[in-house]
Amino acid sequence: MGASPILKLLMALLLAEINSRNSHPDSLHVSFLHSMSLDGQFTFHDVHQAATDFGNRYHLLPSMVLHPGSVSDIAATVRRVVSLGPSSGLTVAARGEGHSLQGHHCPPRGRIVRRRPRWEPMDRRLEGDSAPWPLPMSWTDYLHLSIGGTLSNAGISGQAFRHGPQISNVHQLEVVTGKGEAVLCSSTHNADLFHAVLGGLGQFGIITRARITLQAAPKMVKWIRVLYSDFATFVEDQEMLISVTKTFDYVEGFVIINRTGLLNNWRSSFWPKDPALVGQFESQGRTLFCLEVTKNFDPENHGVMMQEVDELLTKLRYIPSTLFESEVSYLDFLDRVHASELKLRLKGLWEVPHPWLNLLVPKAGIHEFADEVFGKIVTESNNGPILLYPLNKSNWDNRTSAVIPDEEVFFLVAFLSSAPSSSGQDCLARALKQNERILEFCKKANIKAKQYLPYYTTQEDWRSHYGPRWETFRRRKQTYDPLAILAPEQRIFQKAADWP
Ligand SMILES: Cc1cc2nc3c(=O)[nH]c(=O)nc-3n(C[C@H](O)[C@H](O)[C@H](O)COP(=O)(O)OP(=O)(O)OC[C@H]3O[C@@H](n4cnc5c(N)ncnc54)[C@H](O)[C@@H]3O)c2cc1C
Repeated sequence: MGASPILKLLMALLLAEINSRNSHPDSLHVSFLHSMSLDGQFTFHDVHQAATDFGNRYHLLPSMVLHPGSVSDIAATVRRVVSLGPSSGLTVAARGEGHSLQGHHCPPRGRIVRRRPRWEPMDRRLEGDSAPWPLPMSWTDYLHLSIGGTLSNAGISGQAFRHGPQISNVHQLEVVTGKGEAVLCSSTHNADLFHAVLGGLGQFGIITRARITLQAAPKMVKWIRVLYSDFATFVEDQEMLISVTKTFDYVEGFVIINRTGLLNNWRSSFWPKDPALVGQFESQGRTLFCLEVTKNFDPENHGVMMQEVDELLTKLRYIPSTLFESEVSYLDFLDRVHASELKLRLKGLWEVPHPWLNLLVPKAGIHEFADEVFGKIVTESNNGPILLYPLNKSNWDNRTSAVIPDEEVFFLVAFLSSAPSSSGQDCLARALKQNERILEFCKKANIKAKQYLPYYTTQEDWRSHYGPRWETFRRRKQTYDPLAILAPEQRIFQKAADWP
């Protein structure tokens, strides 16, 4: 663990009027807020832009946007909304990068606060600094997300089996609660608020600063992909890799379902370990499982790294002709999804509806899940990747608000579908139907999966999501945001309606 400087967060606050019969913001409230003396400013011209998210299916228009110039702007705005009382209907939603999927960055006719720091490790590279520098230990696959946005979920990727999710790597937070108080908290000081906010879906406070664990960044990454045709062998190998001490630095995987026999681009930018063997492999329309692993190294230790990698590979039971590898800089590896984003943007395929479904499936149910879902429900994976990789509960802190299955090993299974209009008008409807069938199957088969980046429309469903932890969640809401002003877009609590 290295130094842990305070990272400033940048985001926007969206302010909206809920239950307003009028489609226009209440002008009294607007002028009330507009008259505040701030370091930043309220804006109205960008409410449409603020209403859009990556999911691209919900456009919930806020009344106005606060671009705060300081933490006290945020606290003062929340206090002002509190002072209007429960009858005003004004609510506040934090917006980071707007990469939520169901309009979660945006209040149903509410207000938004805007400031946003992102997970970008680029600055010193641009300055030509070649010395190792401190970077976070635990990442997400995609970096253009705000720190507040990922800490209010969990922040997971292929490093989480070693270092835990991002929420397990936070030392201290500064939070503006739903009462408008700016509070410093950690696991020893205001601990209940600290744990409430981590994975708390923005319900208890707006994160304005975070002190997180850092480590010296490695220079290079050995990046390997191999294929399996047998699901049981694939997950057993994944589980073995996350259970041993001497292992890879990153373990992920994905499912390739392509009945035509033509493989998608799972190996582009990689070269075969054994070019003579590679021509012998044919998918024959089978469902395949790709294991993706990396080993960090510094170029002067290339030989040692290769020896360690070879030892690990001998323990794996992949199809031998499918070993593909690459060596890239650590920063290029971290920013890998952005490279795909740029290509998709060029083709107009980024700003399309994204009916994603992310599930945390307990190990006990993963085989039954795979048989039904990859065997029957999902017929192809051409509309977006299906990630599948294991995580271990021991690296998660059960005092946080994040919800995970109650088993030592569980799997992230992420259906990351895109629904561009070019794929046909019913593409979105089909993807949503598919998600519904997967969820229905889990329920029927009693597979106790939990949604990651959860989305529910009724409080009953939210109660069942939180299970025995619902009362703690509700008590925390009552303590830190008693008027239910914050994050109304999650539809967990309604302003004033739920409270005496
Ligand atoms: C392309 C892509 C790749 C992704 N990859 C991963 C991944 O690998 N791993 C992973 O874990 N997740 C991943 N996600 C999901 C992502 O972590 C969440 O959607 C996250 O909330 C997005 O952050 P944002 O800044 O865009 O948040 P926004 O969409 O702006 O906000 C989302 C939620 O966070 C809350 N929020 C935002 N800022 C704050 C704050 N400062 N304080 C309190 N609450 C706040 C909002 O209230 C809202 O509920 C990915 C999403 C996309 C679109």
